[in-house]
Amino acid sequence: MNIILLGPPGAGKGTQAQRLVKERGMVQLSTGDMLREARTSGTEMGQKVAAVMDSGQLVTDEIVIGLIEEKIREGNTAGYIFDGFPRTLGQADALNELLSRNGAQLEAVIQLEVDDETLVARIVNRAKEAEAAGQPVRADDNEDSVKIRLMEYYKKTSPLIGYYYARNDLRTVDGLQDVEKVAADISEALV
Ligand code: AMP
Repeated sequence: MNIILLGPPGAGKGTQAQRLVKERGMVQLSTGDMLREARTSGTEMGQKVAAVMDSGQLVTDEIVIGLIEEKIREGNTAGYIFDGFPRTLGQADALNELLSRNGAQLEAVIQLEVDDETLVARIVNRAKEAEAAGQPVRADDNEDSVKIRLMEYYKKTSPLIGYYYARNDLRTVDGLQDVEKVAADISEALV
C-alpha cells in the first residue's frame, strides 16, 4: 500500500507518517528529511539547495524526483508513505510514472486540513520547543520563511488537491483534532 500525506507545512504530516511507520511497518519517504540530510553530509546537492530551503521556497522538481526515484528503486514490500512529496503537478506526474514502472500504484492521498493561523502557531511553537530543549532549530521555522512556505503551498501544491480528487484518490481528514483522533481518521480512510 502506497499513500501520500498531503497538506501545508505544520499540518502534521511528519507526526502521522511516523505513527504509520510504527503501526504498519510502512516506509516513510520525506523529501524534506532527505534534503536536510544532504545538507548535513555536505554533498554538492545539499549545498546547492541550502539557501532555497532556508528561504522557504521549493527546490527544483528534478532534485526531489531524483531522490524519490533512488529510494523506490531500492524496493520495499510494506508500502511507502510519501511525506512532503509530491509538491507540484510535475512531481505528481513523475510519481505516477515511477510507481507504475515498478509495478506499484497509489492507494490513497490523505489530505490533512488545518487553518493558516494554527499552522503558523504550530511551527513557531516547534521552533521554541527545540530551542528550549537545546536542539537545533530549523532555519526555515521563522515567521518570514513560514509565510513564503505557505505561499508556495497555495501556489504550487494545493492544485494537487483537485488533481487527486479527479482521480478519486483524495480522502480529507480534519488535522485540527488531537493526534490520536487524526491517526484514527487516517486508519479509517485507509480501510
Ligand atoms: P519539509 O520538511 O517537508 O517542510 O521541507 C522543507 C523544505 O525542503 C521545503 O520548504 C522545500 O524547500 C524543500 N522540499 C521538501 N520537499 C520538497 C518537494 N517535494 N519539492 C520541492 N521542495 C521540497
